[in-house]
Amino acid sequence: MAVALITGASQGIGACIAKRLAKDGFDVAINHYPNESGREKALEVAKECEAFGVKAVCFAADVSKMADCEEMVKAVKEQLGSIDALVNNAGITKDKLLARMSEDEYDAVIAINQKSIFNMLKNVCPVMMKQKHGRIVNIASVAGLYGNPGQINYSASKGAVISMTKTVAKEYGRKNITCNAVAPGFIHTPMTDVLADDYKEKMLEAVAMRRYGEPEEVASVVSFLVSEDSSYVTGQVIEISGGLSM
Ligand code: NAD
Repeated sequence: MAVALITGASQGIGACIAKRLAKDGFDVAINHYPNESGREKALEVAKECEAFGVKAVCFAADVSKMADCEEMVKAVKEQLGSIDALVNNAGITKDKLLARMSEDEYDAVIAINQKSIFNMLKNVCPVMMKQKHGRIVNIASVAGLYGNPGQINYSASKGAVISMTKTVAKEYGRKNITCNAVAPGFIHTPMTDVLADDYKEKMLEAVAMRRYGEPEEVASVVSFLVSEDSSYVTGQVIEISGGLSM
């Protein structure tokens, strides 16, 4: 059975991707932040994945820490046997205009959204090289493509995710490992639930489809990118934004 490892999969888009890939027939490794609430939510996600008749195992790791990623990847290999698909989904926001943003707020977002990708790739790519097969999908954002006021930290981190995606696609293409990114726009999740209502409404004016996306609409594109149907697609960024940027 093919195995998919999804980071930050205890809620939101990551949880939805885990369930979709379980439905597709993957055994799933569900990464969660190492705290009690992350664990509880991840166990719920695992239960829903198991309902599709696959194995689902939860792994605690702070993906901004190299040692945590190293340990997690080793554990996934030991318990599930391989890593055929990696979805780098974990992410945070700490939004503020540049004038008000602290250095700590900048560094925290870069560590979790950007450095985490390096940490995961460093550990998973050697596994995929040995397997002579692999699918990597990084969750970027439209902010990484176009910038966004109040998100200099987040935009920088997601822009880096896009260039890292292309670099890995170029370095590992000949090894039969594909690496693509998706760039969601406004998706209904706990991350966007906290935004002010007037801001949410204002943002919709720029969305051609005039609605927020659902996590399932991100998961279905990720499902394609880890499947055999996308075997000749690599280094690409697919925007999932209801036509936000045209
Ligand atoms: P969310 O806050 O619901 O989920 C993020 C997950 O990442 C949580 O489970 C959280 O515990 C986990 N996480 C955070 N730091 C972690 C760490 N250090 N180690 C391990 N796990 C960690 O947010 P979401 O909306 O589901 O976002 C998922 C991804 O999609 C993020 O990368 C986000 O930047 C991206 N994204 C979201 C939207 C949107 O509109 N919601 C738009 C574009 C991109």
